[in-house]
Formats: sequence, structure tokens, C-alpha cells
Amino acid sequence: MPEFEAIIGLETHIQLNTDSKIFCACSTDSWRVPPNTHICPICTGLPGVLPSLNEQVVEKALILATAMNADEISQASFFARKNYFYPDLPKGYQISQYDEPLAVNGSFELPLPEGNSRHITIIKLHIEEDAGKTVYKDAKRLIDFNRCGVPLVEMVTGPDFRSADEVAKFLIRLRQLLRWLEISDADMERGQLRCDANVSIRNVGEDRLNTKTEIKNVNSITNVRDAVQSEIERQMREVKAGGEIKAWTLDWDDQRGVLSKMRSKETEADYRYFREPDLLPIQTSPSAVAATVSQLPELPLARRSRFSEVYGIPEYDAEILTEERSLSDFFEATVAAHGGNPKRVSNWVMNDVLRLIREQDTLAGELGLRPGELAEIIGMVEAGTISSGVGKELLEQVRSSDRTPAQIVEEDGLAQVSDASELSETAAHILEANPDQVAAYKGGKTGLIGWFVGQMMQETGGQADPKAAREILESLLEG
Ligand SMILES: [Zn+2]
Repeated sequence: MPEFEAIIGLETHIQLNTDSKIFCACSTDSWRVPPNTHICPICTGLPGVLPSLNEQVVEKALILATAMNADEISQASFFARKNYFYPDLPKGYQISQYDEPLAVNGSFELPLPEGNSRHITIIKLHIEEDAGKTVYKDAKRLIDFNRCGVPLVEMVTGPDFRSADEVAKFLIRLRQLLRWLEISDADMERGQLRCDANVSIRNVGEDRLNTKTEIKNVNSITNVRDAVQSEIERQMREVKAGGEIKAWTLDWDDQRGVLSKMRSKETEADYRYFREPDLLPIQTSPSAVAATVSQLPELPLARRSRFSEVYGIPEYDAEILTEERSLSDFFEATVAAHGGNPKRVSNWVMNDVLRLIREQDTLAGELGLRPGELAEIIGMVEAGTISSGVGKELLEQVRSSDRTPAQIVEEDGLAQVSDASELSETAAHILEANPDQVAAYKGGKTGLIGWFVGQMMQETGGQADPKAAREILESLLEG
């Protein structure tokens, strides 16, 4: 039994995918655009300007709050000013929410191996604006305000994670959910999903929470896992050596894979929060909440379970098929159109359709292949009309054609040859041209049958029905 256990809570910052910023009309696009081009007097906090709230931000935040099963969505939540000085915060304060957030008391059941799960509490979920970005270049500090006023949801979990691995699993699920709900692109590299982790340790069996450290500036899920693991190990070494854990803020250096101390952690009092006087409260009526709940799509974990149960496909398949929403829609529509074995459809989608999706770097819904077309191709392979090799090639052809799979097969002469007389003739030619192999086969090397079938496939341009070809070859060779 381990001596210590790790206690980890997360503060995630999620960039909502609105077109414009939270309090002005500037574009939210800040990835690889020239610095300080998407800015205006409002988001750079010039004197005399007034913010006005982008309603889409509230709608999207509400979708997330309901998907996170928030028990209490505030009918009137307030913005507050979080005061601090930093060069990339031109106003000198960040407009955030503080003790009157949009939603509290949510939860998320994180699936763990072997049917276990971890109950993650969502303590609160609030709306805020992003600050700018400081770039260090040639020993200079440069400021880019493009991110100022980009809308964020901050979501704070309880100290419910027990390992770095659970944290990584949660972030993968969160990213999946955000994309599924179409409220954030959740690309960590682009800063659209950020995560600070609070880490402490205690003796197994204890209830109390010890002093925690906070890890900041981690830009990928792998790095979050590495940083948390490294901090858990550091704290264990420290405590074993009789040292004391101090409330540090730690910075992750992803080049070197090490944590370093940024500063002693601020307390909330340092921010002198007060209500934002320039904005009205966010009013959320119970009917708006009810409408959001009723419009929530089936969520990925629920769909995963339903796929296993209803279609009888393995959990592994259900997991892959529900990684992304349009892929799961595509699978389900293909099963309906095919009307046969869902596992067979799953194999085609997981192997062949996913390969195309990755090659094209697109989504199932934008692949240009309709579920009905895939169902038709699978049906033709099952009926023996075409070989599975031709079926796979058809996927690509159908995408770039107005013709149906059946039309392509007919017009391009792709149907499988299973006509006995035609195949017998080809087989006879092959035997005649390869007397040595025939002799070897007759001498007992019956494994050569595969080679003969291969010759048949080559001779017929892949259109021979391999099963029929094999039977005919065997009967000629044995005869
Ligand atoms: Zn602006």
C-alpha cells in the first residue's frame, strides 16, 4: 500500500469559439495573426470606453454548465474586477466573475479502466475575459493584445483526482466534450484549452488537505501529465526528507521537462475584487436553462454506452466511433442504411473511413462520402459483387464522383469475376505457364495454392472472386 496519495484539482480555462470578443466587436482569431491587429479601445482599456456583453458567450457557457450537470445556474450572476498589474493587462484589471459565478455544483463521471469511474465535482464555472500575451524576443519583452477580451470559461474542479493519469484522462474527455458541443475548438497548443493544476499529497487514509502548489503554463495534455507527476514525486521526496511544502506557483518548462518556482502564490485578497460597475448582471431565466438542457445533444459517454448496448459492438469500437460527434453520426446513419451487421459497418468505419478522414485532415461530416454510399459498398462486398479490395478503392472514387457506387462498378467494369468458365480458362493458362510450381504442388507443397490464387488476382486485375478462384485452381491441380 502506498504511503502517500496525491490530491489534485484543476482550474481549466476554455476559450469559447465565438467570432467576436466578449465585450467588443474585435475578432477572436489570435493564432498566427500579426500582433496587435485585432484590438480596439475597448479591449485595450482606453479611458472612457464601455464594455457590452456578447450574448453568444453566455449561451455557450450555459451549454457547458448544463453538460456539466450544474445544480445551480444563477439567475443573476455578476461580473467583478480582478485587479492586478501586468504589462499584458492594459486595463489594470481583468473582468471576471468572483463570488457570484454563472454556475456551481456540477459533476463529471470520469471513466477509468475496468468499468471504474472517478466522480469529479465541478465547484464553479464562470465567464471571464482573457489577458494579452507577453512574448520574449531578443532579450526584449513584447506585448500582443490580440487575446485581450477573448471569451473564456473558467471551470474549477474539486480536489478529486488521485493521479497524473486521471488528470490527463479528464482533459481528453473535456476536449472531446467541448468539440462535441461545438462551443470551443479546445486546441491546447493554441491556448484554447489551458489548465492549471493544484497538487498536494497526504498520507493514505487522511482526510485533510495539505498545502498545495499550483502548476501553470502547460500547453499539452502530455505535458500536464508529466508536470503533475513530477510535482507529486518532488513533494514526496521533500516530505520524506523532513521538509515542508510551500504554497508555490510553479512554471513548467516544456523544453527541459522541469518545474521551476515562479513566485509565492497570491491570495485572493491580493486581487481586491469588486463588482464591475460598467456591466449589468447576467440574467439567466429558468426557461432559458430548460431550453438549453432540452437542446443538449446526446453526450459522448452516453452515446458510447448506447453504441455498445444497442449495436452489440465491442467497447473498443464504441470508444473510437464516439471520439468525434460527426463520426458517430456517420456510423449510426450507415448502420441504419445498411440494415445488417453493425460490427461489419464498424470495421469499415474504423479502418477505411477513419484512414480517409486522417489523410484528408477533415471530419466525417465533411468527407464527401455519404453513409448511404458506404452502406451500398459494404452490401456489394457482402453479396460478392465486388471484392473487398475494390470496395476500399470505391470509397475514394465515390467521394470525388457524382456517380453511385453501383454505377461506378457497372460502368468501370469492376464487378468481381466469379463466372466459372471464365475463371477456369484463366486458371488453365496459369497452370500451363508454370509447370515447375504445378509439379511442386503435386509433389506435396500444397501451400503454393496461395501463390496460384495471387497469380489469378494479378491476371484478372484483382477482379477474380478469390474463393471461386481457389476452388477452381484446386480442382484443376488435384485433377
Ligand atoms: Zn476590441
